[in-house]
Amino acid sequence: MTEVGLADEMISTLRTWIDSEVIPHASEFELPDIYPTDMVLQMAEFGLFGATIPEEYGGLELDNSTYVRVIAELSRGWMSLAGVINSHLICAKLIAQFGTDIQKQRWLPAMATGDLRGCFSLSEPDSGSDAAALRCQAKPDGDEWIINGTKMWVTNGEKAGVVALLARVPADDEGAGGITCFIVEKTPGEKSGGISISKKIKKLGYRGLETVEMSYTDHRISATELLGGQNGIGNGLRWALSALELGRINVAARGVGVAQAAYDAALSYAKEREAFGRPISQHQAIAFKLAEMATKLEAAKLLTFEAARKADAGERVDLAAGMAKLFASETASELALDAMRIHGGNGFTSEYPVERYYRDAPLMIIGEGTSEIQKLVISRALLAE
Ligand SMILES: Cc1cc2nc3c(=O)[nH]c(=O)nc-3n(C[C@H](O)[C@H](O)[C@H](O)COP(=O)(O)OP(=O)(O)OC[C@H]3O[C@@H](n4cnc5c(N)ncnc54)[C@H](O)[C@@H]3O)c2cc1C
Repeated sequence: MTEVGLADEMISTLRTWIDSEVIPHASEFELPDIYPTDMVLQMAEFGLFGATIPEEYGGLELDNSTYVRVIAELSRGWMSLAGVINSHLICAKLIAQFGTDIQKQRWLPAMATGDLRGCFSLSEPDSGSDAAALRCQAKPDGDEWIINGTKMWVTNGEKAGVVALLARVPADDEGAGGITCFIVEKTPGEKSGGISISKKIKKLGYRGLETVEMSYTDHRISATELLGGQNGIGNGLRWALSALELGRINVAARGVGVAQAAYDAALSYAKEREAFGRPISQHQAIAFKLAEMATKLEAAKLLTFEAARKADAGERVDLAAGMAKLFASETASELALDAMRIHGGNGFTSEYPVERYYRDAPLMIIGEGTSEIQKLVISRALLAE
């Protein structure tokens, strides 16, 4: 458990930085799609690259309840900043939870400082929701593995020095049983051995950080990059899905942050903007809209904090994380549109941040499992009860 006083102090420091440095400047980077190097360095300074990495490897080892507050706060400022650490921390969680002692010592200390960046690479051009259909191949060759295939949607893929790569090893099982996780070392940049960035994906929102297509052509890695050693063979998908529970709570928290930003913007605009001789907040249609927004926001927070609390208590969280992710991401999208409507024409311009919330929010409905997939997860858990 993260000490309450310490967590409050950390959130308060983060909030001050978000208000003074992130909110006023996010659009300068987001609109032209420029990587916010100084903001990321400040995040490293705060220790956020080690947010959930165990203390023994130099991380902050925040509990989930504190971690969701950090992510919500970052996303209130600019959701892309939460994306910078999300796939990095999923990669670190895989290593911390399933890696050998040597693998943990080798990668986690450098990841905790942000000197070594991680990314998570499950999706492919022809497999997203149906992750077990992935095709990327890893073939053994003496003490090495040879990787061939194309991975899609690799967020932080260019900056990363380690990739948590899900690939298929030769196995009788054509489904999940052949899928194995490798921690592939690479040089940050567009090319490293047989790895190349084959496409930089242009995105509607979630800009400022890179999401890329990454191709592997006869790329050789050492056996030491097989996560968990020989025990790891065939366990990759199960391990990845377990690490994605952290990702789902993270996305729910991002939804809370964006929904909070949209609500804050709508409330303050509604109090200032006048129409028909009074602030628009004094028109009941707008006041009721604000009431609905605040209620949905509160519900999203409660679901997200409850999922985090359950994870901290060591309880099963598939149902709680699925519900939190489903509700908070849909709420973020609804509130972004509501905030835009309350802003009238101004909401449709880049002069106000609500258009960014409107472009960023849909990602949370897609990433870490779409809303439809969350409904599958939730209904399966309910029906199994
Ligand atoms: C900006 C961005 C960043 C991303 N970053 C990463 C990353 O870092 N690493 C990574 O591995 N992936 C990443 N992803 C991929 C993301 O996880 C997938 O896009 C997501 O899982 C959906 O897969 P898909 O795009 O292939 O859609 P599909 O799986 O093709 O789904 C298309 C539609 O069909 C629906 N659908 C599919 N199956 C079912 C079903 N059984 N029942 C009902 N409806 C269904 C889906 O809900 C969706 O509406 C990222 C995606 C984006 C957009």
